[in-house]
Amino acid sequence: MQSARIRDIRATTVTVPLLAPLRHANGCHWGRFVRTIVEVETDDGAIGLGEMGGGGESAEAVFRAMKSYLLGHEVARLEEMRFLIANPTASLYNNRTQVLAALEFACLDILGQRWGVPVCDILGGRLRDRVPFAAYCFFRYPDPRTGAGEVRTVDQVVANAVALKKDYGFTSFKMKAGVFHPDWELEAYRALAAAVPGCNVRFDPNGAWSTEQAIRFGQAIEGLRNDYLEDPVYGLAGMRRVREFVRVPLATNTVVVNFEQLAANALDTACDVILLDTTFWGGIRACVKAAGVCETFQLGVAVHSSGELGIQLATMLHLGAVIPNLSFAADAHYHHLTDDIIEGGLLPYESGSIAVPTGPGLGVRLNREKLREYAELYKRLGGYPYDQDPARPGWTPLIPNDRWADPLDASEVKIPY
Ligand SMILES: [Mg+2]
Repeated sequence: MQSARIRDIRATTVTVPLLAPLRHANGCHWGRFVRTIVEVETDDGAIGLGEMGGGGESAEAVFRAMKSYLLGHEVARLEEMRFLIANPTASLYNNRTQVLAALEFACLDILGQRWGVPVCDILGGRLRDRVPFAAYCFFRYPDPRTGAGEVRTVDQVVANAVALKKDYGFTSFKMKAGVFHPDWELEAYRALAAAVPGCNVRFDPNGAWSTEQAIRFGQAIEGLRNDYLEDPVYGLAGMRRVREFVRVPLATNTVVVNFEQLAANALDTACDVILLDTTFWGGIRACVKAAGVCETFQLGVAVHSSGELGIQLATMLHLGAVIPNLSFAADAHYHHLTDDIIEGGLLPYESGSIAVPTGPGLGVRLNREKLREYAELYKRLGGYPYDQDPARPGWTPLIPNDRWADPLDASEVKIPY
């Protein structure tokens, strides 16, 4: 078979609405996700799909600029591409890890189409046909359009978790926190755990606490059925100190996000579970490699979600299919979306899991109508500041934070749609 070469690279930024704005330690997802969809086209007319978080003119320009590196490049030469556009020493000046990831997704998609196999078959072959996911439970502002969807009080936290269990069949529940005072969030987390008996729970305050606060919280939840406590503090040294005092596995998607940090963590363990993100690590293959290191050092592995549409979700599914040591349900924001840009719409959950695509390549195809619709919505609305809270203008969270939101404040947020 003749090798395929890259003929064009296109990028389109879209914004897709969420059911309601999602609150987190640094601010908020303002009722939608902004993603950049990448298309790599080969000289024989095949098109591979990639996806990256964020976007706009700057992201689209970055992918356009990659054409001067990659036009004529053989799609199968993925390692060559890594050093061509994301050489680690050159990256000191211009980090393109996430750009590389989106292009790797697209090249793997093309290779799978050419060879007539799903991407997971290129990566070692599937060990499972479905990937289990955790419910991703956020505090939410009510949707400004409908007034529905608020999650702020303990009762609302419980009702939301129970509804997610009923609607999707989840057996693991992640509480995204770091929004309110930790004592208040502890009460909410205990209530959530009690509302889904027999299910596992996990908690993620996005590194917002002091070490001492993290120890206090960690010890208080030891009796629950915890998967892990995720990023209670920011920094490997802080995680090591927490780990000395807390008998709950610690997980991270923040302080072990590359191979240097993974090596440091293997030599002097700070985190028990490494949450692999196909974008942060620079591709699906980098995550498979990292999972191998974790297997060697007997560290736990799970899949991180940075707010995906269907293309990125497909990369998470193929990753989840091939790593033997997937010790926990994967994370995905996916069930917060109202729509998707792939053919057939949102991929369905069943018993808390999603089927690994079986078609060639990533196994998902672009719905060009939807791509156009949500590209236009992006042009109308633009981006949003992920690290700002629409209800608290001027607020800046510290690390460790003490500027918590008020759980009794029920005021509505005004967000343009
Ligand atoms: Mg996290």
